[in-house]
Amino acid sequence: MTTPEPSIVETEVPVYKSFDDMGLPEQLLRGIYSHGFEVPSAIQQRGIVPIKNNLDVLAQAQSGTGKTGTFCIGSLCKVDPALKRVQVLVLVPVRELAQQIETVAKSISEYMGISVYSATGGTPVREDSKAIDKGCQFLIGTPGRIYDLMNRNVLSSEHIRVLIFDEADQMLEDRFKEQVMCILQRGFPAQTKIALFSATMDTDVLEVAGQLLRDPVKILVKPQDVPLDGIKQYYIPLDSEDWKYEVLCDLYQQLNINQALIYCNKRQRAEWLSEKMIAAGFPLYVIHGEMDTEERKRRMKDFRTGVVRVMISTDMLARGIDVQQVSLVINYELPTLKENYIHRIGRAGRFGRKGVTINLISKDEGRMRDEIQDHFKIAMSELPSDLSSLNL
Ligand code: ADP
Ligand code: MG
Repeated sequence: MTTPEPSIVETEVPVYKSFDDMGLPEQLLRGIYSHGFEVPSAIQQRGIVPIKNNLDVLAQAQSGTGKTGTFCIGSLCKVDPALKRVQVLVLVPVRELAQQIETVAKSISEYMGISVYSATGGTPVREDSKAIDKGCQFLIGTPGRIYDLMNRNVLSSEHIRVLIFDEADQMLEDRFKEQVMCILQRGFPAQTKIALFSATMDTDVLEVAGQLLRDPVKILVKPQDVPLDGIKQYYIPLDSEDWKYEVLCDLYQQLNINQALIYCNKRQRAEWLSEKMIAAGFPLYVIHGEMDTEERKRRMKDFRTGVVRVMISTDMLARGIDVQQVSLVINYELPTLKENYIHRIGRAGRFGRKGVTINLISKDEGRMRDEIQDHFKIAMSELPSDLSSLNL
């Protein structure tokens, strides 16, 4: 038996079909349009105004539907450009995501004349101190570094009006939870509002959220409203794990890939696979958490700009990363955590684009495949032999 997906009991919220109707500051509105957003997405239609109106928010919406824009726009409304203090703090699980949000927030706030900065591990703390001292107003960071900056009294929560957790379910679980709790225990002003965003929320997280948020506005953009239908899900059944490599090389040759992400569960496997594929003449990168910061940055940049079109990754990059040209996700192995399946495949098909997922499934993984299908009520079909119909 499978447990039903926990669901959020929604709050009735007004729906704004246009950014113009949200009562946003003029400079912010200008930034939104020049960033290239014309019409708000479902989550933006519902989630921006509650943040602007000083409410706690709990929001769940499918991958690639514009959650970043929602919390950036909502919280930018709260920033007083004249006050040179941190007023918005966004907490995220990985550096690459912090940097991505920094880019979006900078672009949207372009005409507000404010300072946006991301503080992550792996760089000298000194640089962060300088940026904060110089008057950073919108700060994005990973929990370890943010806690460190608070402890060193570099970062004060005194003027923080909105605290946002992106990938909230991950942030309130396991290894992050402790750090996040430490940050919260440092104390925030009573008027600081909290907003939680994710594509997935499980029961435990909803419980923690219940303790953390005060009378929150709950927004749930249901899967049926924003289907992952744009992402076709296929599998290739394989008798043995040993076949995967050849099948992958075969796919690589046959598919006219725009950009693709290939997921492995462990760093060792990811490295092994990349070495083998590079040696066989397939240009690609591998990225994982134990890599040097600068190297990670360089590889992400090359991937974003399309210099390198295929990247092998661990679940470090399962969440949040937005590269619009990614049209294919290959799971070399199914993730060990069910949720990560949804996050991984969500890297393709951003903002309603079409995408394809191909799962290489050995006999041992059959059960996990069934669990994933049941749990998320999705169907994977066997990969057709004529791949030209995939249209990548
Ligand atoms: P999520 O966090 O929900 O997975 P993102 O915030 O990363 O999704 O957004 C996914 C993509 O959709 C991004 O490339 C973003 O630029 C694009 N996008 C978001 N909102 C809009 C909008 N209103 N109009 C056009 N594109 C949008
Ligand atoms: Mg996101």
